[in-house]
Amino acid sequence: MTITVQKIQTENKLPNTTSVVIIGGGIVGVSAALTLAERNIPVVLIEKGHIAGEQSSRNLGWIRKTSRHYEDVPLALAADKLWQDMPQRIGHDLGYKRCGIMFLAENAEQMSNHSQWLNSVKSLNLDSRLLTAEEVKDLVPGGQKKWVGGVYTPSDGKAEPAIAATEIAKAAIKKGAIIIQHCAVRKLNLSEGKVTGVITEHGEIKCNKALLTGGAWSRRFLNNHGISLPTLPLVCSVLRTKEMQGPTNISVGGPDFSFRKHQNGGYILTQRGALDAPITLDHLTIGWRYLKQLKTQRGFLRVSVGSDFIKDLKIKRHWKANEISPFEQVRTSNPNSNPALIKEAIDNTRKAWPIFDNAEIDETWAGIIDVTPDSNPVIDHIKKIPGLTIATGFSGHGFGTGPAAGHLAADLVSNHTPIINPSPYKFERW
Ligand SMILES: Cc1cc2nc3c(=O)[nH]c(=O)nc-3n(C[C@H](O)[C@H](O)[C@H](O)COP(=O)(O)OP(=O)(O)OC[C@H]3O[C@@H](n4cnc5c(N)ncnc54)[C@H](O)[C@@H]3O)c2cc1C
Repeated sequence: MTITVQKIQTENKLPNTTSVVIIGGGIVGVSAALTLAERNIPVVLIEKGHIAGEQSSRNLGWIRKTSRHYEDVPLALAADKLWQDMPQRIGHDLGYKRCGIMFLAENAEQMSNHSQWLNSVKSLNLDSRLLTAEEVKDLVPGGQKKWVGGVYTPSDGKAEPAIAATEIAKAAIKKGAIIIQHCAVRKLNLSEGKVTGVITEHGEIKCNKALLTGGAWSRRFLNNHGISLPTLPLVCSVLRTKEMQGPTNISVGGPDFSFRKHQNGGYILTQRGALDAPITLDHLTIGWRYLKQLKTQRGFLRVSVGSDFIKDLKIKRHWKANEISPFEQVRTSNPNSNPALIKEAIDNTRKAWPIFDNAEIDETWAGIIDVTPDSNPVIDHIKKIPGLTIATGFSGHGFGTGPAAGHLAADLVSNHTPIINPSPYKFERW
């Protein structure tokens, strides 16, 4: 979580009853709360730590269609419109800008991947286009590396994760949602298999609909109800520079670095070609589901076996409603950033654009990403538990689609016409 993250004051008295309880206050949960509140549907959002304490404040802030799976692009297009309209809707600017996003290629294989992606989304009429090496130079001057070219989408954008989810939460409250922080939902209360309430550490709220937007915790929550959601945790390390003169306002992704301008005038950098994979029991039990992904992303993961394995084993896998749950054991996941990856991020960026030689690091952090076997989320009703809907597993690219994903989840919960066709996000696809 970045130190620039905004915190908000919320209620602390649980209501006895409501229509919908949302479990988890990241960008997806708060966006769903906003949509439901606007429909005058009584809604309570419960967050174990604080709003946006996990992925939703720790991400890079990229809002992109570029390189998304074909079937995930309609959600991103719906989100673009929601981001654009957000200041009017909630009365606050979230730093959203259509700054453009560019991914570079340093060899023919990478260029062919960009070209294949562009072909795969041809029917969607995006403004994405391939770039030559010359065009890269013109758009982002001062580079030192030889690029074969790249792919560029001018309508892609960015927003500020340090304020986005919290401002959406504030607007949801103004429109009638109740939000409670520092309160974990331990379990669903079920009667004849259907949702009749949620049991929190401070008591029960009766409701007949629950929406789980628990990010990396959703797997553990569902597992305790006998439902297996395949998501694995990966850790991404990030740094923010102090205010500096940079090469461009476009967000740029190279093979082993990325940078985008922060609204404070600095840049957010990461080692784009590497994520930490501290092995846990889950990696051993469901890792085989990811073999296809691993084949295409060779060298992408920095696997380690160490204290995280033991730490994870100490977090409960099964618990009863009257027992302390994992969500109270870990209020906010706060993994350490990896100094080696932080160094690689800044070194690789400097090699490509030497203007970053002047960059001074203001802060570093890390966040846990919840990755599914096909890198797409689940936004669906859970048939085995009538009354339960989930929107989770955003696989490292759910900030950009967050407002639309929350909207879609709210549509499903309230039986509204869905904002886009939800079929790519079915739980049953596994
Ligand atoms: C370092 C990093 C960089 C990223 N970069 C980008 C990017 O540039 N663009 C992009 O689109 N995406 C990016 N992502 C991914 C993006 O941040 C996530 O996909 C998105 O924020 C997921 O939102 P969420 O609401 O599903 O989950 P989260 O933000 O993780 O929120 C889930 C919340 O649920 C709470 N919770 C869980 N269980 C319970 C419970 N039982 N009771 C109460 N509360 C509970 C948690 O405390 C948490 O606050 C990045 C992620 C990381 C970590």
